[in-house]
Amino acid sequence: MINRAKNVQNFIDKVEAETFDITGEEAIEKSICISCKAKVDLTGTEEIDQREYQISQLCPVCFDAACDEEQWPEGPDRLEDTF
Ligand SMILES: [Zn+2]
Repeated sequence: MINRAKNVQNFIDKVEAETFDITGEEAIEKSICISCKAKVDLTGTEEIDQREYQISQLCPVCFDAACDEEQWPEGPDRLEDTF
């Protein structure tokens, strides 16, 4: 189970690195948005915003864009192109 979780994390890192040039871990380390690379300042924000960033590493602008399905015309299938 541990190896499986590690493989999943490696996969996520790989997809993130190929899609965004950096991994989510690096984005959090630098406090930047993984997509637009803008500085993400969570000072004084709601806890839910901070949790959202920890999960998605997206700034609020990119998060809203990512949630807008029209921004993702190819849908989830695009991940399969990685292999
Ligand atoms: Zn952004």
